[in-house]
Amino acid sequence: MMFKKILAFIFFLIIAAPTVAVAGQVKALKVTVLSTMLADQGVGEWGYSALVEVDGRKFLFDTGSNPDVVLKNAKSLGINLSEVEDVVISHNHDDHTGGLILLRRELMKQNPRSMSRVHVSANIFQSRFGSDGADHNGLSPLRNEFENLGGIFVLHKSAKELMHGVWFTGSIPRIHPETNWSTDGLKFRTAAGDITDNVPEDAAMVFSTTEGLVILTGCGHAGIINISEYGQKIAKAAPVHAVIGGIHLFAKSDAVVDWTGEHLHRLGVKYLLAGHCTGIEATWRLRSALGLTRKTAPISSVGSSFTLGQGVYPGNIAR
Ligand SMILES: [Zn+2]
Ligand SMILES: [Zn+2]
Repeated sequence: MMFKKILAFIFFLIIAAPTVAVAGQVKALKVTVLSTMLADQGVGEWGYSALVEVDGRKFLFDTGSNPDVVLKNAKSLGINLSEVEDVVISHNHDDHTGGLILLRRELMKQNPRSMSRVHVSANIFQSRFGSDGADHNGLSPLRNEFENLGGIFVLHKSAKELMHGVWFTGSIPRIHPETNWSTDGLKFRTAAGDITDNVPEDAAMVFSTTEGLVILTGCGHAGIINISEYGQKIAKAAPVHAVIGGIHLFAKSDAVVDWTGEHLHRLGVKYLLAGHCTGIEATWRLRSALGLTRKTAPISSVGSSFTLGQGVYPGNIAR
């Protein structure tokens, strides 16, 4: 009898105890890669996209390169993207913007609000001129068509907490001399003359979690160390638990990759799901610098994922 009373009391405590809400911290997070070079399910391409599922809400981060790849890959993975209303676009390059129009056009048939809001840095539409005199901005040509489909661009002048513990960085200060971009000589025209396009709008998503920060980056043109340290500044001064996405090290020297590895190690990275422009050699080299394994730092493929509290699912080809 006494035992039953104790059990009932414990049950009462569990029911009555208030849920402990930690300010600005996400509880559940899953990031699933929908576009990158390697694929054992779906189609690989030079591009990047990932679905973010965080505390009951979904975001699409970047939209791949070929118009139909993210749609096709989501379908082959059994993922329905129609309930995703918010898109985050990391920067203007067309290997991150290519799917936007077709995603909106197709998915709004199922849900008028699907893919209707696109978060970008305020300077993303700046013109970048090549030697042919043309503007090579990869997002500007899509702007009218997207807005005619009822979509809106939300231009962020600075970092913004999109929801509890979920940050859009906006433009990232270039503190460390990371030069992780290849714009093939594109220039901004200014009153003082032409200046190199260093992709100043490059932005990332930062998730503040109980394990530390999770960073999601498209091409990492701002430099993954600059991105991570800015994440610590805006979201929380915590170790970086996981880095996901493209880090644009494929063409860099071993010395640059090693420098990056040392700093990621200092920041405390426990999981690395690097894909796209990171490069295969660079990913292996970073894995070694971080003391990680094939289970914690596989090469990202279509369908690979990171789940907070569970770690990385590599897919078959990268197992
Ligand atoms: Zn890029
Ligand atoms: Zn890219």
